[in-house]
Amino acid sequence: MPLIIKDEYPEKLFRDDGKRLDGRDKDELRPIKMEVGVLENADGSAYLEWGNNKIYAAVYGPREVHPHHLAKPDRGILRVFYRMATFSVFERKRPAPGRREKEISMVISDCLKPVLFLELYPGTAFEVYINVLDADGGTRCACITVAALALADAGVPMRSLVTAVAVGKIDGELITDLSGIEDKAGEADLPCAITWFNEELSLLQFDGETDLEEFSKCLGLAKNAFSKIYEIQLDALKKKYIEIQEEYSRGEKK
Ligand code: UDP
Repeated sequence: MPLIIKDEYPEKLFRDDGKRLDGRDKDELRPIKMEVGVLENADGSAYLEWGNNKIYAAVYGPREVHPHHLAKPDRGILRVFYRMATFSVFERKRPAPGRREKEISMVISDCLKPVLFLELYPGTAFEVYINVLDADGGTRCACITVAALALADAGVPMRSLVTAVAVGKIDGELITDLSGIEDKAGEADLPCAITWFNEELSLLQFDGETDLEEFSKCLGLAKNAFSKIYEIQLDALKKKYIEIQEEYSRGEKK
């Protein structure tokens, strides 16, 4: 998949054959790969490649809260640290977390909290560290998706997984899963996420312009995409347990 590395906006975001610049149809997702249990030292972890995005998520907890004053006596807290590597984007990113990273960390945390039973873990913290190694649009959605998987891998009790995708509008057309250049040069970007236990949206952001009819069609596109991404999440989780089962049956694990 071609990565447009310079911030030069093309005049058109569709090719003459009606496909998007990376060859996708309007409602087509970029290729997505996910794997769980990828980091030895974390309680749970996951890796995701989503188009040109490459992201690791590591989960720790429940554990003692540092600094102590952040602890809540009646429930656990969820702390999310979203970081983009300096080399993850074309223009070198300053290593210190900026406002955007703090905002996205908060958004991801708010989005994941509804599926956790934080009330069962007073005084403790779950910490989710997310590192974006390569970024090409839609990283907050990709991070939500991979963080949910890492929480599940850690064995954290959850009401369900959470799945996220961005939909939007480019050159007057509604599309699924905006790439970096589509995000920047397009008319609208709507990152959204679903919590599967109640099928409610736990994230809905909106940047740009659409009319109400287009907005509702965008949500329809998101709904279709959620199901496809959810299948990939489930497959990644199942794969780990199938592999463990096979190791036991070959006698390699006792
Ligand atoms: N981006 C960048 N430099 C930055 C921040 C973002 O080049 O400092 C790129 C990156 O590819 C990102 C895209 O811009 O994925 C869109 O960023 P946005 O803030 O809309 O968040 P995202 O779509 O990644 O959730």
